[in-house]
Order: sequence, then C-alpha cells, then structure tokens
Amino acid sequence: MDWIKRDQKAIMSTYNRLPVTIAKGEGSYLIDVEGKKYLDFFTGLAVNILGHSHPKIVQTLKEQGEKFLHISNVFINQPAIMLAERLVELSIDGKVFFTNSGAEATEAAIKLIHKHSVQAGQHQKGIVVLEKSFHGRTLGAIKLTRQPGVYQDFPTTNIPVYETKPEDIEELELIFKEHQPAALLMEPILGSGGIVPLSKNYLKEVQALCRQYGVLLCMDEIQTGIGRTGTFFAYQQAGIEPDVILFAKGVGGGLPLGGIIVADPYVKLFQPGDHGTTFAPSPLSAALGNTVLEVLLEDGLMKKSVEVAEKLWTDLEGLQGKFPHYIESIRGKGMMVGIALTLDAKQVKVIQKQLLHDGYMVDVTQQTIIRLLPPLTISIAEIERLITAIQGHLDELSQ
Ligand SMILES: *Cc1c(COP(=O)(O)O)cnc(C)c1O
Repeated sequence: MDWIKRDQKAIMSTYNRLPVTIAKGEGSYLIDVEGKKYLDFFTGLAVNILGHSHPKIVQTLKEQGEKFLHISNVFINQPAIMLAERLVELSIDGKVFFTNSGAEATEAAIKLIHKHSVQAGQHQKGIVVLEKSFHGRTLGAIKLTRQPGVYQDFPTTNIPVYETKPEDIEELELIFKEHQPAALLMEPILGSGGIVPLSKNYLKEVQALCRQYGVLLCMDEIQTGIGRTGTFFAYQQAGIEPDVILFAKGVGGGLPLGGIIVADPYVKLFQPGDHGTTFAPSPLSAALGNTVLEVLLEDGLMKKSVEVAEKLWTDLEGLQGKFPHYIESIRGKGMMVGIALTLDAKQVKVIQKQLLHDGYMVDVTQQTIIRLLPPLTISIAEIERLITAIQGHLDELSQ
C-alpha cells in the first residue's frame, strides 16, 4: 500500500492533505520519496525560518542531543534561560513562560489575563479580539479565534469575548467603555484571517486606548514573529510596547516551542502552581531557539532577508501590474505575503495544485489568497522562479 493510502487508513482526517510524501529537506527545498524537489514557500506554516537541515541547526541537534533531551521543570534548564534572556532583550522588559505550541501560548495568556482580572477585583473582565483573528484551536483559544469553521459549536470558557473590526478605533473605544475588558489580543498582521496588516497608526491608537482604560495589550506574534516581517517582532515597526507577547512557530527551528513574554508589572501574576507543563521548554527546542536567534541576528540573516523581501515585493507588484484583473492586492510585510486573487476558490485551488506540480509549495488562506511564508534564507533567484511560475498560470488563464 502506498503512503497516501496508509495515511488515510491510519491517521484521522482532520487535515486536507496535499498528496506529497516528503523524504528529505535541504535549504529552501523539500524532496519527496520519488526524488522530486519542491521550493518551499510554505515552511510548515512559518516554522522553518532557516530553511531545512541548516548546518547550524543540525550541529545544535547533535550537541544538545548528546547532552540531554529532557529534564524536569524543577531543575534549571540552561538553554531555556539563555533563550528567555535573548527574547526579553529583543522585546520588552519582563519574563518568559514557555509552552510547546502556539495554542498553548494563547492558553497561558488567557490564564494570565484571568489572574489580572481577579487581582483587579473583577472590575475588568474579558478579552477583545479582532474579526477573523486566529489564536489557536484548543478549547480556551477557539473562543478567541473568530473563524466559524474553527470554533464551530465546541464548548468554550465562560470568559467574555468581544469582537471588533480591524482599524475601527471608535468601535474599540465603545467596547472598552461599555464592557471594561481586561485585555485585548491581536495579531499585528492577521495570518489565517487573510494576511491583513494593521496600520501603524491604528496600533499606536490601540496602545493609547489600552493605557487609558487599563486594558492589557497582548500581541500574538506566533506567525509574524522571529524576524518574518523585517523586525524581530512585527509590533516593533509601530513603535509600541505590548504588555504580553505570544510567540511560537519559527522560534524552535522546526521543533515545537512557544510561550509568552510578560512585561515586568505583570510577572507576579503567575506564582508557583498557577501554570505548568511537563515538556516545555524542551531543552532541545530551546537550544535550537538559541541557534535560530544567533543566525538571525549575529550572522545578519534578518537584515539580509529584508533586502530579499524587497525583491519579492517588487516582483509581485510587477505581476499585479500585468494582471490587475486577477490580482486584487498584494498584502502583508516582509516574508509574510498574501496574493489576493479575484478568482473563485476552486480556481485558486487549481493554481495551488499546478504550482505544486511545477515544484512550488504555497499555502492558500481564506480560500482566494495565496499565502507565501518562505524561509528567511530564500534567495532572489528562487523568488524569481516562483514569480515566473505564477505568471505562467495567470497567462494560461488569460487565454
Ligand atoms: C499558528 C498560530 C497559532 C496557533 O499555533 P499552534 O502551534 O498551531 O497551536 C496562534 N496564533 C497565530 C497567529 C498563529 O498563526
């Protein structure tokens, strides 16, 4: 039996799979069991920041693997401390709580917000989130994920959740006045919601309102973080300072790792016993995290990727100029890009499959938006090849 059939037989079908069986990864490429090479603009959804099998990642895997893989959270975890120190240095003055995933980072934030609420005498309760936001799929997080296909009718927490439209600062102030929420949680660029960047102005106003009404400002940087948009975290481009930052995806260099960075005034909200997990942070994931940050910052990858991303944007805008009737907009920032097409969902699916057939992996979100999340190590030549491939398929459509 082939792997696709075995997959269908053995694994519960919660994912719409693309029929590719990967055997190996190498730089910007994934190679399947037949030896076919795919240029990876998907990176397991913004995870493989350094591409596949990066030599420094492989070296760290060996070095830490030979020391120990797991200890208990009752012992001091050196790789975790070094990573936490770096993350704080790169963001806000505060401390880190580590998790294994993005959804667990959201769960940690929900518990922290609840503690904040209780400590403030329950005068402020609940969380404001944006329309079409995505914050994870666990039972706490799905209430904050404003996508009907995700939250369905699953039971959720009794924490009040208020939804507001991006860029509508008046609506946000009305919610603050009327409901006195404890926190606001947002992605600086909505990911699954369709690659919707929030303006600097809006983010600045959001911060001002949060300060005025004493609302905790929480940024979900799970997809946008770790250099993907040109700064270490995307909120930094707006010159704001959140109280809580959620991170995951790219930080573990391919291994599960996530967490929250909490600003100093709030770090005492968690006391021994308030939260915990067996695995997080895996010393191995944390060691890889240190290597990711080293390559990104000390080796200058983040800086270099900004220049390469500029080329990506220029080329995509050129493509839009050629096909204004097919490309409605190019949106996002840096290496997080949405190509919003005017085609219907079926046609976009066909383009995605054709690209896969040509050897390019891209994601589709909100049905008609091609999402590009390349490794930050991608080259200009590799970008040019993808653009040529997309152009070919839009040419075919025009005929
Ligand atoms: C992926 C993602 C999550 C959830 O992370 P998981 O590791 O899949 O649980 C939460 N928020 C955002 C913005 C994400 O992109």
